[in-house]
Amino acid sequence: MCGIVGVYGHPEAANITYLGLHALQHRGQEAAGIVTSDGDKFHQSKRMGLVGEAFSRGELDGLPGHLAIGHVRYSTQGDSSLRNAQPFAVEYAHGSIAVAHNGNLVNAADLRRKLEMDGSIFQSTTDSEVIIHLLARGREPDIETRIVNALRNVEGAYSLVFLAESKLIAARDPRGFRPLLLGRLKDAFVFASESCAFDLLEAEFIREVEPGEMVIVDAKGLRSVKPWTEESKRFCVFEHVYFARPDSIIDGRSVYRVRDMLGRALAKEHPVEADVVIPVPDSGTAAAIGFARESGIPYDQGLIRSHYVGRTFIEPQQSIRHFGVKLKLNAVKEVIHGKRVVIVDDSIVRGTTSRKIVKMIRNAGAREVHVRISSPPTTHPCFYGIDTPTRSELIASSHTPEEIARYITCDSLGYLSRDGMMAAVTAAGPPPTGKALPGANYCDACFSGHYPIEFKPGTISSLKRVVN
Ligand code: AMP
Repeated sequence: MCGIVGVYGHPEAANITYLGLHALQHRGQEAAGIVTSDGDKFHQSKRMGLVGEAFSRGELDGLPGHLAIGHVRYSTQGDSSLRNAQPFAVEYAHGSIAVAHNGNLVNAADLRRKLEMDGSIFQSTTDSEVIIHLLARGREPDIETRIVNALRNVEGAYSLVFLAESKLIAARDPRGFRPLLLGRLKDAFVFASESCAFDLLEAEFIREVEPGEMVIVDAKGLRSVKPWTEESKRFCVFEHVYFARPDSIIDGRSVYRVRDMLGRALAKEHPVEADVVIPVPDSGTAAAIGFARESGIPYDQGLIRSHYVGRTFIEPQQSIRHFGVKLKLNAVKEVIHGKRVVIVDDSIVRGTTSRKIVKMIRNAGAREVHVRISSPPTTHPCFYGIDTPTRSELIASSHTPEEIARYITCDSLGYLSRDGMMAAVTAAGPPPTGKALPGANYCDACFSGHYPIEFKPGTISSLKRVVN
């Protein structure tokens, strides 16, 4: 769970990157970083926390150059500390190189062990540093070939932007798990994880970086190569379900439209007699609107979300602890009292949030509480860049929907089926721009356990951290 930005050929590359990262803040709130190149030297700033808080005006002014890459981090591998913040920049025999990575390598632990046996010394615990070590060892004279050969060794999900002194290189793994888009801002080229960044920058969306493609931008212009073995495409369906911003267009589809269609399909699969449909904001909002439209049940805002809950919250006193979800969400009694309520959310992970929300809705006077989830049960952890808990912590890995309904104490629970989800994604269709990628196919491993890339059991799961 990370967001990346790359800028080539803009006099204010750092400012543009900063704005792009701001639009991608939902992809990672733990740390943010920008590295620029003035054509000769690198300049960098990395901080823990949100983009708006991480960089001061002075710091941005101290990042000169026409080229930049940036990163917002929500760690999936490696602990949460500044040394693991990206972009990762080093000086080596061929000059300077920096990388920003969204995704997860499934063979990073193996590669790192081999590199360490060979004498490499690592500064961080991220798998992205493995990529830097691999390419630093390359003997090829040009950076493109070193990157191509380095990436031949890695397996997994990677959308990457590399910065060299006077070159910007973007690469996407052959299955295309994570999104990466190319845009234009006057004479500059920009790359970003989601199109909402281009909207903020008023950049023109050109196209997606294709799975298995490497795009090089330098003084000669922009060129593209596809140097790796072709694989079947495996875009992450969970980007559409939960992760991406609804105002983005990724893999040729409007995220908002997909969520609306998921909600409509959910209403068809799990109809219920009720008085009001309310979303769990913000992730369930578009699906709840689709559910309401399809079912004819009025939509209302029965839960209000505080937008000021940071990741680090100091609990004021022992006696008033355990606010749990109340810190983030509160029920609107006016909307809920005396009603049969349908709550729509995108997913249930551990079940703890849903349980608390159901309780909150009942306390606000609901007569009945029906939970509808716009995706199938989350039964398996993601190893390709979404932060999910280990399998044993995923409630749906060991409990049936009936058992989960009892646990979260709702009157009924309905999950969208896998077929229903895939049909809704497909029905959402390419947007009017007609720029959908051909042969779109999705990774749904978190719902099915069908992992498109094999990995050695134990090499990744043991490293997975727990999300709150
Ligand atoms: P839980 O209490 O663990 O069942 O959390 C469910 C909530 O977590 C839902 O509202 C989801 O929108 C949200 N969610 C789903 N996936 C993730 C994730 N990978 N990281 C953080 N929150 C998530």
